[in-house]
Amino acid sequence: MKTVYLSLGSNLGDRERNLREAIRRLGEAGVRTLRVSSLYETEPQDLRDQPWFLNLVLEAETELFPKQLLARIHKIELELGRKRLRPKGPRTADIDILLYGDSVIETEELTVPHPRMAERRFVLEPLAELVPELRHPVTRRTIRELLAGTAGQTVRRIGELSG
Ligand code: ADP
Ligand code: MG
Repeated sequence: MKTVYLSLGSNLGDRERNLREAIRRLGEAGVRTLRVSSLYETEPQDLRDQPWFLNLVLEAETELFPKQLLARIHKIELELGRKRLRPKGPRTADIDILLYGDSVIETEELTVPHPRMAERRFVLEPLAELVPELRHPVTRRTIRELLAGTAGQTVRRIGELSG
């Protein structure tokens, strides 16, 4: 059994419902949620001309191997109606694997820890709520330290995911 941290985001349709549905489907796929961060409304990053996102981070446990986990995530993203209209563009559900235990993975399809997590406030804020003292397995910096090093992006805590 591994403890994993997943980042979930949505900026199309009923965003809260999409996040709830993603968590439910992850559960059915063998990813048991232990804790959920608060919900954050966040400014889009790379492609800025798109609706704001709702983001949260999950702490979960799973028996799935990393590649299996990624395959099930892709399936759930598709089931929730994700269309890749343009890269970095709007999506009903984006699910990223931030951390998979202490594992460091670098393959064509999968990089863990997630390569951009250390710069993303929309990932670090909710993650720091759950595990501020956890160390990034490569840089050995704590999540709290990484968060202190980010600036710029607007991230607003708007409460808890209901239902
Ligand atoms: P992003 O999440 O950066 O906006 P996508 O969701 O479109 O972009 O992901 C693009 C690809 O990134 C996925 O098809 C997946 O194979 C790959 N990928 C690599 N590492 C990870 C990871 N840690 N978590 C999720 N996807 C990953
Ligand atoms: Mg993704």
